[in-house]
Amino acid sequence: MPYTPGEQPNEPDMIKLNTNENPYPPSPGVIEALRAVRPESLKLYPDPTAGSLVRALAEYHGLDESRVFVGVGSDDVLAMCFLTFFQGGKPILFPDITYSFYDVWAELFQIPYKKMPLNEDFEIVTEDYTAQTEETGGIIFPNPNAPTGIELGQNEIEEIVRKNADKIVIVDEAYVDFGATSAVHLLDRYDNLIVVRTFSKSRALAGMRIGYALGSPDAIRYLNDAKYSFNSYTMDQTSLAAGKASVEDETYFREMLDRVISTREWTKQELRKLGFSFADSKANFIFASHPSCPAKQLYEALREEHIYVRYFNKPRIDNYLRITVGTRTEMETFIKFLEKYLKDQRI
Ligand SMILES: *Cc1c(COP(=O)(O)O)cnc(C)c1O
Repeated sequence: MPYTPGEQPNEPDMIKLNTNENPYPPSPGVIEALRAVRPESLKLYPDPTAGSLVRALAEYHGLDESRVFVGVGSDDVLAMCFLTFFQGGKPILFPDITYSFYDVWAELFQIPYKKMPLNEDFEIVTEDYTAQTEETGGIIFPNPNAPTGIELGQNEIEEIVRKNADKIVIVDEAYVDFGATSAVHLLDRYDNLIVVRTFSKSRALAGMRIGYALGSPDAIRYLNDAKYSFNSYTMDQTSLAAGKASVEDETYFREMLDRVISTREWTKQELRKLGFSFADSKANFIFASHPSCPAKQLYEALREEHIYVRYFNKPRIDNYLRITVGTRTEMETFIKFLEKYLKDQRI
């Protein structure tokens, strides 16, 4: 079954908390860079190596350019990784509750896979990924995990990477900028680690489609070989310009993240007061459940108010809502509605 993206409604009064987009605009530098793109120049193909963006990212992470691969959103990068690294015939491992594109790619590329159950607290069980490694074809998980927001510690990640030295371990860091620790520091010691990042969430550029992978020079070369066998010009001129400008504006980036993080923490307090329970999310969303009001009912009631959150009708998580952190004003409206709704329902 193909992946089902969150819906993209377009109502002027809506509060959109369903696809983990950033509520703030991209850096002013990005807007300027886009204005500076000359439409006449679009008659030429873009740089197939995406050199300007690769250099900006290499510098940002303090890594050599040979260790950076860019693509059309991290979905494109992750799909290339599946195609390139997970073809050994042995099952790859990922959590049972996780980004729902992983099993879609595995099916598409006919890669066998095993879903490893999270524990009762929705945490990744490290031993599941370190035992019987000779029967494993590769490993992928997000950190923090989606849709739970739970972070796995660096010691656990290192153990998984170290005990699987002969296969690729991908850490999908789509949400890492919102307060979790990155595994980038492990890249110098482990050639089998690949860290994947996106500009869609923390850099407020979901509409631009930019993602990247960091890994060993060999791994990046294999990814480029796959890319050049598929589509050489993945990154268009506007994405290259916008992406570079975003990476170069660290001040705005940090300010925007601080705002999202403080609104997240405020929202957690308010949800707790209303009786919700949730894990301590390090992402830009909260995965919450109410003891006496079914998630599906809340989802529908919110929807009528044009407040969109994500509901997954799937085993283990069908009583949870994934709530993206919006602006403080949006979250105040959201909380006020819940307060009134729960009261009216006598909950
Ligand atoms: C959003 C998301 C992605 C994809 O992001 P794009 O760069 O927009 O394609 C990948 N992995 C996880 C875990 C995500 O939540």
